[in-house]
Amino acid sequence: MKALAYLASAACFGLGLLFLIDSFPSGPHPFSLGRLIVAAVLFVLGWFIIRWLHSRPIIQQVEIKHTLDAPGELKLQEMRCRQCAGTLGKDNITVGEGGISVKCPYCGSTYQMEEAPKW
Ligand SMILES: [Zn+2]
Repeated sequence: MKALAYLASAACFGLGLLFLIDSFPSGPHPFSLGRLIVAAVLFVLGWFIIRWLHSRPIIQQVEIKHTLDAPGELKLQEMRCRQCAGTLGKDNITVGEGGISVKCPYCGSTYQMEEAPKW
């Protein structure tokens, strides 16, 4: 598909060049404005194909991995929700931009988990 578009663009430029050369007077036939216009149209068309090819968004997959280096031990054992005292497991913990956050599955409260100090 892309190769075909490049080929079409190249054909436009090639034909455009032929028409451009042919528009100039050579031997018996005089200068031809019609051929010059055709050449210009072909050049513009070829240019548009190139532009269209390059303007299409390139889909890039970016995978962001969050690794958390916690020097202190994380308090993960026996976590309970501060609002409803429901037991929180590791499935309720998400690592995001701001650090570790805990979401209570019972009442929906969210907490930012704090790192236990080293000392
Ligand atoms: Zn809760």
